[in-house]
Amino acid sequence: MSRKEIFAGNWKMNKTYSGAVELVRELLNNLTDIGNREVVIFPPSPYVKDMAAICENSPIKVGMQNMHYEKAGAFTGEVSPEMVKDTGASYILIGHSERRHIFGETDEDVNRKVKAALEYDLIPMICVGELLDQREKGHTDDVIKKQVEAALEGISGDDVLKVVFAYEPVWAIGTGKVATPDMAGEVHSLIRKLLSGIFNDEISISIPVLYGGSVKPDNIKGLYKIDDIDGVLVGGASLSADSFIDIISVK
Ligand code: PEP
Repeated sequence: MSRKEIFAGNWKMNKTYSGAVELVRELLNNLTDIGNREVVIFPPSPYVKDMAAICENSPIKVGMQNMHYEKAGAFTGEVSPEMVKDTGASYILIGHSERRHIFGETDEDVNRKVKAALEYDLIPMICVGELLDQREKGHTDDVIKKQVEAALEGISGDDVLKVVFAYEPVWAIGTGKVATPDMAGEVHSLIRKLLSGIFNDEISISIPVLYGGSVKPDNIKGLYKIDDIDGVLVGGASLSADSFIDIISVK
């Protein structure tokens, strides 16, 4: 399989500036031989430019956790796609469940952000995932279908090859409740089926689909064995160099 393997760390609203520099330096000192694995960190916005400079010419790519889709204007507190690009970031996290469920981001917002990211040559890492209630009612597949189709509305077959998906069941984020490898695998193959339906099989098998939700060094092995899982998006366990390196080093 030729898909990229991606190990991403979402630091959310954590770390002081000096703590962030210390963490990235520890990662750089220890991640020397990671083969074809790509490591991405999503630090808090004020640190992104410095982190991108520190990580230049290293195996670590840097991304921003959120942005607005408009080019410029009266949007107090927001950052534009061009500003993200100017920091040296290469990735942008889009539609994380905390953005969707705490800040009310809609599927339409997600789609506009994906388009804006592609316009500015940023790699959109698009998060999709169901709430516990939706899973318990048997609605997982419908929720994922709606989120995937909406995110990709109007995106061409060429552009979609630049996108990365992350399946993150909302009930597993920050809760310590990880999806079993089989549960995650089922949704990953659904996402691939949806991508085949919207585009074609060749495109579907080329797009990396990551799993996220309470990934830790002690559960990464089972998830990594699943064919359709191309890496992970890690929250809490990416805040410590030791645990993030353990996860990245999975065999
Ligand atoms: C996340 O923030 O995307 C995430 C998966 O968090 P955690 O690993 O802490 O559940």
